Amino acid sequence: MLTAVETSVAALQARPHAHWLLAFSGGKDSTSALKIILAAYRRSGLTSLNLTVVYCDTGVENPILDAYVKSMLAAIGAEFESEGERFATKILRAPVQDRFFVRSIGRGYPPPTNSLRWCTPGLRIRPVSRFIEEQDPKNTVVVLGLRRAESQQRDRSLAKTPEGHWQKQREGNRDYDLFLPILDLQVPEVWDSIFWLSGPRAIRPKVLQDLYRDASGECPVIKAPTAPPCASGRFGCWTCTVVRHDKSASKLIEAGYDQLRPYFEFRNWLSEIRNDPSMRWPQRRSGSAGMGPFTLDARKAILHRIDRLSRLRSLKSLTHPNAVRSRACGALMGTRD
Ligand code: SF4
Repeated sequence: MLTAVETSVAALQARPHAHWLLAFSGGKDSTSALKIILAAYRRSGLTSLNLTVVYCDTGVENPILDAYVKSMLAAIGAEFESEGERFATKILRAPVQDRFFVRSIGRGYPPPTNSLRWCTPGLRIRPVSRFIEEQDPKNTVVVLGLRRAESQQRDRSLAKTPEGHWQKQREGNRDYDLFLPILDLQVPEVWDSIFWLSGPRAIRPKVLQDLYRDASGECPVIKAPTAPPCASGRFGCWTCTVVRHDKSASKLIEAGYDQLRPYFEFRNWLSEIRNDPSMRWPQRRSGSAGMGPFTLDARKAILHRIDRLSRLRSLKSLTHPNAVRSRACGALMGTRD
């Protein structure tokens, strides 16, 4: 872990005028990367750091985790401001045409799987790429919480890249630097960095550890060096059918976050109807035989369920103002049970 901090000190000193963009999901790896970069800055002797923490709100983020991330980023901002320091955050959203339900209800896309993962590029990768392009890519360093040990597939792709902590990312004719501060950390070292590096106070390691439960990954926001495979549970969308069982959500429900239950049930239903031939056109978009897009009836059924879900949400927020968010945030930030 200390080596990761030292490597990051050298990186910051090598690019003192760069705009550092840290892709943040709130999961353990991006939290570790954030803590390491901030610890490195404190040790670097630099007097300022142009850092922006970028979070992708897909519109279908797990509401508990989304509330946790947003309130934590706001709290870090307030903490920095009170110390006269800058802490910039940017919440990105996918354009309407790429949003989950616009694609699934509007265009009939079946829910994503590992082999047909249409969602990640539109919901996460493209919004981040566009934001980077707006930032003068030549002077931008993107910090990612990628680790070699995370998966065999990722190991293979990272092993092919001799650059180590520094890598190049090319998107079209754009070219920018990636810095991977936790590349060589194992999971225990990741948690060590979260628990033992000081500050920001707004990051509460125990809260994150409790939230993590069976989540084992983070959905990527940068297609680099290659998009990693989805893990068995992650910080990500509540609609995610790429995982077979959403262990992360089910553990959170077991732990008392009952407001997640309707989302969880919806996701499971979506996953079931995906493979129901009566819900799909008998022909693919390409014209070949095989299960095609959702039928109009299936899309109406999804819309109907979404309607019910949103009525449930607004009913909850009428009877308990901001019930979901304030309870979640209060518990997460340690101000409520
Ligand atoms: S979390 Fe799942 S549904 Fe969301 S973008 Fe990632 S793979 Fe797609």
